[in-house]
Amino acid sequence: MTQQELSLEGGCACGDVRYRLTATPLFTHCCHCLYCQRQSGSAFALNGMVENDAVELLQGETEAVVLETPSGAGQDVHRCPRCRIALWSHYLRLPEIARDVSFLRVGTLDEPTAIAPDIHIHTVSKQPWVTLPDGTPSSEAYYDAAKLWPAESLARRDALVERARKADD
Ligand SMILES: [Zn+2]
Ligand SMILES: [Zn+2]
Repeated sequence: MTQQELSLEGGCACGDVRYRLTATPLFTHCCHCLYCQRQSGSAFALNGMVENDAVELLQGETEAVVLETPSGAGQDVHRCPRCRIALWSHYLRLPEIARDVSFLRVGTLDEPTAIAPDIHIHTVSKQPWVTLPDGTPSSEAYYDAAKLWPAESLARRDALVERARKADD
């Protein structure tokens, strides 16, 4: 498993929770679904998918709240217990590795420009005033990771699946 070395810090709004991201996300979703719009109070959510161990908690702790997702499986959203800002979540639709992958809220990084979306998803409910950039893939609903993820990210995902299977034995 090759992982790009990275060191980006981030945190919640009140400063109680601080974390360090140590790997480039497997893939970063800009999600335009109506759940993300309601849950963020904005037009989309920006989530970088990364192995849990690449998100090091530096300070504080998070509290999980279960919220709905388009797949119906839901997600555990980890929030600062004091200011309630969402920092990352685990999308429970992912087979086998749902709990091993964090969907990091990119906007909570101190330098959020460091990570740009790899794909725009659920664009069927995209706000009409959001113009998608040329050259970034988009999907009206979800998509097939095998077709769009870089080989390195697929290898990292396979390593997680392998680890989960071994843990089950
Ligand atoms: Zn906070
Ligand atoms: Zn969404």
